[in-house]
Amino acid sequence: MDCLFCKIVAGRIPAEIVYDSDTALAFRDIDPQAPTHVLVIPRKHVSTINDLDGEDEALVGSLFTAAKEIAAAEGIADDGYRTVMNCNEGAGQSVFHIHLHVLGGRPMTWPPG
Ligand code: AMP
Repeated sequence: MDCLFCKIVAGRIPAEIVYDSDTALAFRDIDPQAPTHVLVIPRKHVSTINDLDGEDEALVGSLFTAAKEIAAAEGIADDGYRTVMNCNEGAGQSVFHIHLHVLGGRPMTWPPG
C-alpha cells in the first residue's frame, strides 16, 4: 500500500518523532500551523474515520492518551490545545491514514475555517 504515514511508521520516510507506543506514533507536522503541531497516528493503517470498526475503539482512545502526554511534554496542556481529525477531502483530509492533529502554543479561534 502506498501510504505516506505507513512509510513513516516503517521508518522509510524521516519524521521528527515525539511519541512512540505499541499502538501509536506521533511526529511534528511538516507544515506547522501553530508553534506546536504534532500528528498522532495509529501504527495500523486506517484510511478515514469512516473505516473504523468496533475493534478500533481502544486504538482511537490511545491516540487521545498520546495527545494528552504530548501536550504535557510540549508545555501546552494548561493554556489549552486543539485536537482535530479531518474526515475525507471535504473536511480537508489530504493524507488517508487517520491522524489526530495536536495544535497549541497560540490562541485558537472558533469556528475553524
Ligand atoms: P490532513 O490535511 O488533515 O490530512 O493533514 C495532513 C497533514 O500531514 C498536513 O498538516 C501536512 O502538513 C502533514 N504532512 C504531510 N506530509 C508530511 C510529512 N512527510 N511529515 C509530516 N507531516 C506531513
